[in-house]
Amino acid sequence: MENQTGPTELTATDANRRWRLLGMSALLIACIVGACSHVTEPITTSDQSATDAVSTDDASDPMLSVDTLLPAPEDFALTRIGSEDFPIPPHAKYLEGIRICIDPGHGGDAHKHGYKRGPTGVREAEMNLRVAQYLRDLLVHVGAEVKLTREGDNDLSLADRAKVADDWDADLFISCHHNATNNTEANRTTVWYHGTVDDRPDNLDLARHLCEGLFDSLQIPQLTGIPLKSDQLMYESGFGVLRAANKTAALCETSFYTNPEEEQRLRDPQYNLREAYGMFMGLARYAAGGLPTASIKPADDESPSQRAPRTLVFQLDDGLRSRNAWGSDRSMILKDSIAVRIDGERVPHEFSADTYELNITIPDRIESGEHNATVQFENMFKNANTTPNFAITVD
Ligand SMILES: [Zn+2]
Repeated sequence: MENQTGPTELTATDANRRWRLLGMSALLIACIVGACSHVTEPITTSDQSATDAVSTDDASDPMLSVDTLLPAPEDFALTRIGSEDFPIPPHAKYLEGIRICIDPGHGGDAHKHGYKRGPTGVREAEMNLRVAQYLRDLLVHVGAEVKLTREGDNDLSLADRAKVADDWDADLFISCHHNATNNTEANRTTVWYHGTVDDRPDNLDLARHLCEGLFDSLQIPQLTGIPLKSDQLMYESGFGVLRAANKTAALCETSFYTNPEEEQRLRDPQYNLREAYGMFMGLARYAAGGLPTASIKPADDESPSQRAPRTLVFQLDDGLRSRNAWGSDRSMILKDSIAVRIDGERVPHEFSADTYELNITIPDRIESGEHNATVQFENMFKNANTTPNFAITVD
């Protein structure tokens, strides 16, 4: 979606003008189909065909057909995992115990004429779900815990999708999509993160690994120079589902179903498994580097006299030390990567490389009451911590 006009780069002025026009059309189209908060790809052939949505009961109309993928047995992925085509690398064992919420985009939209469909009517919601299910099969195979936001062809709101990840206390949240554009030749992989590169480095880690896994697995010849995209390129406030996500999150637009050849590949369960396998391999590589976390150390861990007023203690975990490998008694946290903010403003901290405790004395300028604290750091694999935001009460 990053480039509506195909491979030609636009000048900034052209792009701005074009985005304004596209933005207006997008709003119109999105509102006509009643999906203002729902589209990640506002200007698509399928969205546009939705503007002439006519209620018809013609079951032979490919733009209204319900099952558009080639049929596959339920155990399709399970019987292929570990085969020559889909080997499981040893380091995938580090996915064990990681909680991953997978969000198959869209659903429940087959009655909307041509809505998010390829040239012959293959429906994005179906391919998203199948890829998500195959990714689950792969992840569960190595001991990860997985929850899907939807199991069938039903819709749920963008906020509800992110809430599934929150309520379940997922470590990672991955939204699975496929892309669309008016240029039928376009076919590229993009992975989207929320906001700016400084907001959540953990989102970039997830996005980068998913993207690299998809590159390796799918080998799609077309490339965009910058395959990691901010969702603010599409909307000022980003994608609804990523904006609502609190957990480490990314949204994959694996390939373009508006490309006729790619659309036919996307019907094929073997290709859907290859997509899922790419994401899986990216996640395995990510997990091998450890997923660091920070947690607030409760004051009752110590006698009250040891904890001075207006101080906070965070316990850092590099995501690696628990492996008890040779070298795990050394610090694997990059000291200079540590940043602590209260309500977005940097505050000083003291870090112990032995205990991994992070001590903060809250500056006088911070008034008593509720505040947001952010703790960010990187481990030796340059993986950023997955739980950077904390609600704190200052006495
Ligand atoms: Zn989508």
